[in-house]
Amino acid sequence: MTENSTSLELQGDIPPEDSPSAPPGSSPWTPSLEEWQTLLDGEPSYRLDQLWRGLYSEQLEPNEISTLPKGLRQRIGEHFKPSLDLATKQSADDGKTIKWLWALPDGSSIETVLMHYNRRSTVCVSSQAGCAMACGFCATGQAGYERHLTVGEILEQVVSAQRQAAEIDSRLSNVVFMGMGEPMANYDRVLESVRRLITDMGIGARKITVSTVGLAPQMRRLAGEGLQVGLALSLHAANDDLRTELVPVNKRHPIDELIDCCQQFRRTTGRRVSLEWAMIDGVNDRDSDADELASVARRAHAHINLIPLNPTPGWPTVGTPPDRIDAFARRLTDRGANATIRANRGTDIDAACGQLAGSVAKHKTGAQAVTLGPSPGTKGGRT
Ligand code: SAH
Repeated sequence: MTENSTSLELQGDIPPEDSPSAPPGSSPWTPSLEEWQTLLDGEPSYRLDQLWRGLYSEQLEPNEISTLPKGLRQRIGEHFKPSLDLATKQSADDGKTIKWLWALPDGSSIETVLMHYNRRSTVCVSSQAGCAMACGFCATGQAGYERHLTVGEILEQVVSAQRQAAEIDSRLSNVVFMGMGEPMANYDRVLESVRRLITDMGIGARKITVSTVGLAPQMRRLAGEGLQVGLALSLHAANDDLRTELVPVNKRHPIDELIDCCQQFRRTTGRRVSLEWAMIDGVNDRDSDADELASVARRAHAHINLIPLNPTPGWPTVGTPPDRIDAFARRLTDRGANATIRANRGTDIDAACGQLAGSVAKHKTGAQAVTLGPSPGTKGGRT
């Protein structure tokens, strides 16, 4: 059993007083199939299929699953209800980017961003409320850590995105774990969510990307899971002194160790890791940075994604101007590395990379989309 553990019996109208029960507000997307089987003990076996199909193939809340009898829906509803309560919903880029701010049952809040591209959509999900990694240029890192999200809280973000995409005749094709939090620090729940996305929600493994600040042991674990999911490493600096300044956890897992993880991921899964690099004016955008990065990327057999730094309240340094990002990308390609400049989405509603803070504030910036060198085929990724 995962979080909010329960062996609640849903037969009969009222569960017996002494039956252990899920705390009110448990997400119906948290229990596994086996756990639902136990919960539905005594019901005809097809009820389990109806419930599971309703939740995962049709993205319905239990009380909306009309194939289930009313009494059963009611009993389920007494113990399980969606965890995400809409606080605000904003849109940008002519409706092509949507950001939800959700209130969770314990008072924490998280954000989810959905981006539409020509009848396909990508959702960027949060894996924690807050983040403990303390990267200074990231709004979530500036805000600090609250808690891990449950499997249900992660999956409900995807369910909302699927429902929203369907409304405009688009299909949710990609899921990226690049919202609030460090997915690898919440490994088991993130992995269980990933497995259900693939098996039950019809998202292709290759269309799922998990992004990490560089937690080496979990990167190795992911490589060994036998899944074709993408892995992104937020590198941002290619020498240990600068990286430790920007990404404090580098002290524990320095660059050589991360290169080794990337090589192992490539060997084991056949997939290249993408190195994320937020371009910070005068900090990591010099010629020497490009030279070091090209060398790391070649050794790691990795692809590079350049992201123009987005403004956040607690970080004064600005992003690199577009023409210098282009020059930096050219220098990388000249040195045998593959680099893409990532298009920015949702900056005017603080929905872009590193801007998710679980609150609503205002910033503005702009960025161009350009591609240099061969694409790794992991388009649609964003933060
Ligand atoms: N903790 C995970 C995933 C969340 S952050 C990770 O670090 O990968 C998602 C991405 O946005 C990371 O690559 C992160 O480094 C990047 N990012 C953070 N702040 C940013 C900012 N202000 N501008 C651009 N990218 C940023």
